[in-house]
Amino acid sequence: MSKIVKITKEAAEFLNKIEELSGEKITSCIQCGICSSSCPMVNEMDLMPSQIMSMTILGQKEEILESKSIWICASCFNCKVRCPRELDLAKVAEALRQVVLRTATDKININDIPEDEIMELPQIAIVAACRRLTN
Ligand code: SF4
Ligand code: SF4
Repeated sequence: MSKIVKITKEAAEFLNKIEELSGEKITSCIQCGICSSSCPMVNEMDLMPSQIMSMTILGQKEEILESKSIWICASCFNCKVRCPRELDLAKVAEALRQVVLRTATDKININDIPEDEIMELPQIAIVAACRRLTN
């Protein structure tokens, strides 16, 4: 027997916000899974690209915004070129990252990294991480 899922007002607002920020019609996703099977980064992800779409539709905000997948997406567009609905997962991931960044929660604090490790890290990696993960 199929399960009926009730969409709350908060869930609908979250979906609307992500559709607005990304410019993608997320509800047109048919859950074919082609994006997940095409993604070169999927093995590093905790949520597969197709799961990001279905969970966004269902408004599972906390799980998505806490997932590492939205930061791992490399915007390679492999999924977009193969998606039967031409959905652009990179834009959806970018929209989800924007929502996280707007909460002004820094994911890294440069002062927490031991000095000897900082000396070993490439400068470009530190700058890129700060740009992506801090406000
Ligand atoms: S390929 Fe497109 S339609 Fe299929 S699951 Fe992924 S986003 Fe949805
Ligand atoms: S754009 Fe992101 S989600 Fe899509 S295939 Fe590339 S890495 Fe995977």
